[in-house]
Amino acid sequence: MSLYGDYDPQNIFAQIIRGDAPCYKLYEDEDVLAFLDVFPQAYGHTLVIPKRAAARNILEIDADSLSKVMAVVQKLTGVLVAELEPAGVQVAQFNGAPAGQTVFHIHVHIVPRYEGEALAMHAAGKAEPTELAALQARLLQRIAN
Ligand code: AMP
Repeated sequence: MSLYGDYDPQNIFAQIIRGDAPCYKLYEDEDVLAFLDVFPQAYGHTLVIPKRAAARNILEIDADSLSKVMAVVQKLTGVLVAELEPAGVQVAQFNGAPAGQTVFHIHVHIVPRYEGEALAMHAAGKAEPTELAALQARLLQRIAN
């Protein structure tokens, strides 16, 4: 998949937005959805996506939708840092397969980084459902407070 092409409404994030596929949801409003990455590269790896924009990448999304996504990215980065106390945090967004994109609905990664811990492989090892559910509960509690 290159930078150019048609938006596929059957991509996994479109299915999650429609409720046709599950997710470990952390935040949702009219425009934005955030959930845990099920193949996390680090503990707390979170994805933030637009709900209304059928955009594959940053070239296609309208500026208003992108700014709504980024406002949630900033808020959730604060939540993750406060709750998980990483030594650093990466905010990343990939466009086109050569840049590392594997799901073609635009999304932003928030990846907490811990001292001395290398990143796990991208979109590879699946986390245990019980671990993801426990992390979701912990982060939802932090968001609520
Ligand atoms: P990218 O490679 O930037 O397109 O990132 C796509 C991300 O989506 C990867 O980090 C995957 O681990 C993640 N991912 C794929 N399927 C799911 C899913 N069903 N639920 C949550 N995260 C997913």
